[in-house]
Amino acid sequence: MRFDIVTLFPDFFTSPLQTSLLGRALQNQIAQVYLTNPRDFTTDKHHRVDDEPYGGGAGMLLKPEPLFVAVESLPHLPPREVVLLSPQGEPLTQTVLAEFAENYAQLVLLCGHYEGVDERVRQHLVTREVSIGDFVLTCGEIPALTLLNGIVRLLPGTVGKTDSLRDESFSEGLLEYPQYTRPASFRGWDVPEILRSGNHGAIAAWRKAQQLQRTRDRRPDLWDAGSQNSAPTEG
Ligand code: SAM
Repeated sequence: MRFDIVTLFPDFFTSPLQTSLLGRALQNQIAQVYLTNPRDFTTDKHHRVDDEPYGGGAGMLLKPEPLFVAVESLPHLPPREVVLLSPQGEPLTQTVLAEFAENYAQLVLLCGHYEGVDERVRQHLVTREVSIGDFVLTCGEIPALTLLNGIVRLLPGTVGKTDSLRDESFSEGLLEYPQYTRPASFRGWDVPEILRSGNHGAIAAWRKAQQLQRTRDRRPDLWDAGSQNSAPTEG
């Protein structure tokens, strides 16, 4: 899968793209990431990428030309989407990540800045808009990295055991169960006895019950949306 990140700050990505699981996945060619700077596509002598909004108002907007020409310079690998990271986009969820991971050969990620982008970018260049939550950051680079990380993580070969994807929070509309590692007793706090019992059936039942209870307690929105809310929660 190919990612093209259109960003005014390509250096922002240097360390994250080389680090940990994402770094290893990219090194192993599970996905390819290319960085394109719209400033390289400006033709004026000051290389301007932003300007004041028509009608007045605070802040600057990214001009349409550099973004259009930057995207038009890229190879086109269908099926692809041109994604604008924007607080006005569709909310990013695990389901959306899975849909991207399964259906596209190429994703072009446009990182906004300042007050955002000229509306014609949204209307005539972008095919999809994604928000990482109901809050406003200064830039689209962090949301683009979030999207990239979440998608690459789902591509075959990135995560060693597919079980760890299956059991994860949100994979079945539930939060994950509590987990413990060594030591069995830490500062007087003990790992639940059942997890050390070796009884796989009992462990699976305990984990499922914990998932249900945790989801009901912490995320009533997920709980109400899922069919599991008719299932028993004790046990
Ligand atoms: N004026 C814009 C608005 O009210 O919708 C906000 C612009 S924000 C300061 C600058 C850029 O950061 C946006 O163009 C977008 O690329 C990115 N950004 C900020 N918050 C985001 C979020 N929650 N999800 C996705 N992108 C976001």
